[in-house]
Amino acid sequence: MAVYVRTIIKYLCPRCREDVAKRPGVINTPAIACHVCGHEFLVNRAAVLHSWQKTLFRYAFLFLFVVGIAFFFTVPSDLSATMWNELKQGVGTFAGYVVGVLLGIALLAGIGAFPFGLVVGWIAGNSVANRICSD
Ligand SMILES: [Zn+2]
Repeated sequence: MAVYVRTIIKYLCPRCREDVAKRPGVINTPAIACHVCGHEFLVNRAAVLHSWQKTLFRYAFLFLFVVGIAFFFTVPSDLSATMWNELKQGVGTFAGYVVGVLLGIALLAGIGAFPFGLVVGWIAGNSVANRICSD
């Protein structure tokens, strides 16, 4: 018999039970303050690694997304030429092209940023965790 176990990793504030993984930025001190209630508490190694991976993924995603948009609109292609023709004729299907292109670029940026966040985020987070965590 197969048993399906769903695991959700959360880092909760001991006082208000807020998920501190939502807090922006990396953890590089042994103790952090909850972004909701201000309670200070010690973090473990997993929380440090998670914060570095998440943050580096976000920066890599934003970078690749902006580069992807710049590339799309500066390098001539059939699709970008069609979009500009649509724009000249009126909004019509232009919004559809924009949404499709942005979603496509976001998907590619997410795929590209994932290994960066996973690997580089782990390496950076591991070195910080070795320095600040005693567990
Ligand atoms: Zn709290």
